[in-house]
Amino acid sequence: MQDTILLGHGSGGKLMNELINGLIKETFGPDSLQLDDAAILTISGHQLAFTTDSFTITPIFFPGGNIGELAINGTVNDLAVMGATPRYISCAFILEEGLELSKLKEIVISMKKAADYAGVKIVTGDTKVVEKGKADKIFINTSGIGIMEYSLQRRKIEEGDVIIINGTIADHGISVMAERNGFSFTKGLTSDCAPLNHLIASAVKACPNGIKFMRDATRGGVASVLNEVVQNTPFSAKLMEVKLPVKDEVKGVCDILGIDPLYAANEGKVLIIVKKDEAEKVLEAMKVIKEGEKAAIIGEITSQYPGKVFVETAIGGKRLLSLLIEEQLPRIC
Ligand code: MG
Repeated sequence: MQDTILLGHGSGGKLMNELINGLIKETFGPDSLQLDDAAILTISGHQLAFTTDSFTITPIFFPGGNIGELAINGTVNDLAVMGATPRYISCAFILEEGLELSKLKEIVISMKKAADYAGVKIVTGDTKVVEKGKADKIFINTSGIGIMEYSLQRRKIEEGDVIIINGTIADHGISVMAERNGFSFTKGLTSDCAPLNHLIASAVKACPNGIKFMRDATRGGVASVLNEVVQNTPFSAKLMEVKLPVKDEVKGVCDILGIDPLYAANEGKVLIIVKKDEAEKVLEAMKVIKEGEKAAIIGEITSQYPGKVFVETAIGGKRLLSLLIEEQLPRIC
């Protein structure tokens, strides 16, 4: 155990898991804390989903979005992947003295636009200002409440289940990284920042009982989500390299920076694990929604290497995707 917090404690990887499952869970209580995208609460007979998230991304404006819409979409997505219909959002700003009001205005307007598109209302919030140098321009915390109109999208995985994603991977992490490094050849590279609730509702309606698991593949990327899914199970997740949708320009940046796109952050991608014989139905239902036009099957659940995630390469080789220890891209969301 380290004496101080490292950047890796915020990575969505091994260090963060240790911190949350250790100090935080032990202190707050294993019975009350629900370590999932959102907590499911029953209040007066109504099932609600409740989630919270903080956004510290740098730069605050990046290709394809800004910290404000990222906060709204991220919170909407954490509710949607549980099977909830997102309804209400809170918004707390921590502002650094000196932040230009015009920038805050642009951020706030894009938050409103994102909320309208997702069909959620921003109903409460808070504003704090700290002295120059004591924060980096703006941090945002958003919490969200959703109604469980569909069943909880958490079921036991089995051999043969299919792994689906709604489009290209690593767009968010890599476009932010390219922006930070000032790469000039990455014109057109943008974040995939998007709300997934409409897409998920379409998939769940088409297949009310066949979806086993859904998660937005944010920090830590596709590889980290799948590691969480198969950890401590007799199953493994097998990805097929030839089926992985990665844009050429994203691949280019990944090669230069030595980043595996399977570990890079997405902000508009959901991984769906579904019963094999329902997969086509789910795919069709995803493809009719804008955020799911490029939905594809990228792998399956097998029993080959229990508890592990691996990629089968184009020539039939196998590469293990272990749980990340360190952060590749700090402050990516
Ligand atoms: Mg999530």
